[in-house]
Amino acid sequence: MRARAVLASANAGKLRELASLLAPAAVELRSAADFDVPTPEETGRTFLENALLKARNASSVTGLPAIGDDSGLVVPALGGAPGIYSARFAGPDASAADNNAKLVAALDGVADRRAHFYCALVFLERPDDPVPLIATGAWHGEIVDRPRGGHGFGYDPHFFVPELKATAAELAPEVKNARSHRGLAARALASQLAEAPGP
Ligand code: IMP
Repeated sequence: MRARAVLASANAGKLRELASLLAPAAVELRSAADFDVPTPEETGRTFLENALLKARNASSVTGLPAIGDDSGLVVPALGGAPGIYSARFAGPDASAADNNAKLVAALDGVADRRAHFYCALVFLERPDDPVPLIATGAWHGEIVDRPRGGHGFGYDPHFFVPELKATAAELAPEVKNARSHRGLAARALASQLAEAPGP
């Protein structure tokens, strides 16, 4: 086992997914929920900055190496929105349905339907680690007005992947993980961790 690390998220689904994707790098991943890590304010202007500040916060509080992640949906026709505000696009307490309704309304009459999900993952050995490991992933598709599929979460029912002729919500989780922004970033981070000299 290379090391223990804490994931700067209390989301159990995310922990399970990342733990299995990072298993080849021999990292034992713990949840931020086990350490009462307070959620930091996401003051960054990019996914990468927010992933870094989540990782730094989790490492400071726990004294362990930490992984921070940040992800969201980027729509070029909307100037990159919802972007880093994906979770709260329709307001601070917005549900996925609220966010999707706002997205579909914003694209009403817009011909350019391109969109991509993006994920940034950052690994810090310690809070003042000057050389964080950084991995990113992008997954390209198109926004459709009519939701389809019952898997996944967030914007998945409106994110259509032309090569698969399906929305992300119509894909089985392992099919989504094999192509998704998070899957790509996690596999890239796993290979960097496997090659890194360690603490
Ligand atoms: P976070 O990375 O947990 O902060 O997620 C940000 C937001 O981006 C989520 O609440 C979703 O709205 C959106 N999002 C990120 N990844 C996905 C995905 O794989 N499917 C659907 N929505 C996503």
